[in-house]
Amino acid sequence: MKHILAVDQFERPWLEGLFAEADRMRALPRDAAPQRGKILATIFYEPSTRTRLSFESAMIRLGGNVVSTENAREFSSAIKGETVEDTMRMVSGYADAIAMRHHEEGAIARAVSVSDVPILNAGDGPGEHPTQALLDLYTIHHEIGQIDDLNIVMVGDLKYGRTVRSLSLLLRQTNNCKITFVAPDAVRMRDDIKGVLDASGVLWHEEADLHAAMEGADVVYQTRIQKERFASEADYLAVKGTYVIDAEAMTHLPQHAIIMHPLPRVDEIAVDVDDDPRAAYFRQARNGVYVRMALLNQVLG
Ligand code: ASP
Repeated sequence: MKHILAVDQFERPWLEGLFAEADRMRALPRDAAPQRGKILATIFYEPSTRTRLSFESAMIRLGGNVVSTENAREFSSAIKGETVEDTMRMVSGYADAIAMRHHEEGAIARAVSVSDVPILNAGDGPGEHPTQALLDLYTIHHEIGQIDDLNIVMVGDLKYGRTVRSLSLLLRQTNNCKITFVAPDAVRMRDDIKGVLDASGVLWHEEADLHAAMEGADVVYQTRIQKERFASEADYLAVKGTYVIDAEAMTHLPQHAIIMHPLPRVDEIAVDVDDDPRAAYFRQARNGVYVRMALLNQVLG
């Protein structure tokens, strides 16, 4: 597989191989340098902390190097009017692979059409975030020991949150998982994803009561309300704070279950939940490095 563009590319045997490789990367000796001499470019037109730094950390741990622009919207030639196609044609001459995030859905596919080197989609506006979905499913596999027969509760901004969109699509590669969507009315999961789940036989339903949903959960995947995608501050404030996971909510969660969050968190998980062993979100963020190491090995060969 050359480019990592969308979750639709991934099938179960490939996922199992990737997870085994991520486990191997977790234990990779610091002096092993399978990508020595290779260069990764990270080109981000939208803010990021974890995705960009974990891609860069992954490449450096593999013995490779990184060139980067963290605010490509302002600090690259985009501000002078250069097209994504021109920028990427050029960057593909400077690097062996490119991790790219863009605010417009579809921009990454345009970059792929002109790039000579592998491109990894690091977030595509409100579209997809496939490497996040991979690290999310890997986290479930690593924490719970299985990816089949699970109840997965997705909470928060399911309309604009690209991580829950991508993870829902990826769950088609599991068997007998059920999804419960818990979201304020204005940001319910969109029909396109629901339609794809229906067509592939993944059971889902919507639930308004977060505590009731948590009672039957194996995984609760909380998300941030995506303020930057709302038309006005008032629209954002109308939904913010509807579903908060706090110590009281945690009393409804089974002991074997975990709380995940792609981060950054605003106020949707209270900080007093962090010390609960079921709070897996910081471990999830760390898994991003191992999964991205495995992906870089895959695309760079
Ligand atoms: N970091 C995730 C993303 O880039 C989630 C978020 O921003 O809320 O989509």
